[in-house]
Amino acid sequence: MIYIDFDPNQYAGNEKDAWERLTQAAINQRAEVVQEYQKRRASAPVKKPSMSSAVKSEGYKELKEWFYERVFNRKCGYCEARVKRKDLVTDHYRPKGEVSIKSLKDPSRDEHEHNVTYTTVKSMYEDGVKRTHPGYFWVAYDWRNLIPACNTCNDKPAKYTSFPVKNTHALFSDEESKNGDYKGVALETDPKHFMLSPDELDALEQPLILHPLRDSDLADHLSFDNKGIALGVTERGKATILNLYLNREELVTEERPKALRDLKNDYHLKCLALKNMDTYDTDRKNIITDILNNMHTKEYSAALSAFFKAITGI
Ligand SMILES: [Zn+2]
Repeated sequence: MIYIDFDPNQYAGNEKDAWERLTQAAINQRAEVVQEYQKRRASAPVKKPSMSSAVKSEGYKELKEWFYERVFNRKCGYCEARVKRKDLVTDHYRPKGEVSIKSLKDPSRDEHEHNVTYTTVKSMYEDGVKRTHPGYFWVAYDWRNLIPACNTCNDKPAKYTSFPVKNTHALFSDEESKNGDYKGVALETDPKHFMLSPDELDALEQPLILHPLRDSDLADHLSFDNKGIALGVTERGKATILNLYLNREELVTEERPKALRDLKNDYHLKCLALKNMDTYDTDRKNIITDILNNMHTKEYSAALSAFFKAITGI
């Protein structure tokens, strides 16, 4: 995973209009899904409303495509594998319909796939009763909650519905939202409770899984060794590796080592082609700069960057 410095305010002209249309559509759909939540709560007040079925994938399809093409270089936002369009899925950073915490059944065992368990999260509802968390359906269409992903990162035995946090999982707040397009967005049937924006949720919950568009210090948490194995530097880094299963076998034994070999060969061939010994040092530096400038477009670029620094001594 790499941090991507994405700011929608950069858009102008037709792109700005298209982006605004998509984000406005998301706000309208948020209103619809929240109404549906209130309807389900009113018809069965003691049961947890299952919100997964109320969120329509058509509603975030265009934003997923937008991110895939224009922001993520057609890569999975988590593992950085190149994803074919037909295999592309949307990961809801905060799960849309059910929330759990993933853990290893037996942490002493290396084997991962049959050694994971997902524990359902409970949360305080508006009526003060703790029930199974219905999912963060009100941010299900919000671009800040959508990550284009490969199916492996998105599903079991990787992230699935897991969303560990440092504090507690939030539902609705009894304090009015102060934040941007969420300012003062209350539940119609319960005006004393307000929806929280992704920024407010982050501040309140302190999520452990790193977010490629929101965590600018991502590289301080997650690193890679010279063989392409992900290393958790902090609690957040460790949680990200566990939840996204970033050290799964195909990545560690095949995909990342191949990418590292290809990069090393490319760099050495370019250096070997340098003939003028008077300008060798400058030319070599230019090769390094050129490779670094294009690194973010490559598969597994976080692992490649760490490896490249080691082989070039930069
Ligand atoms: Zn992935």
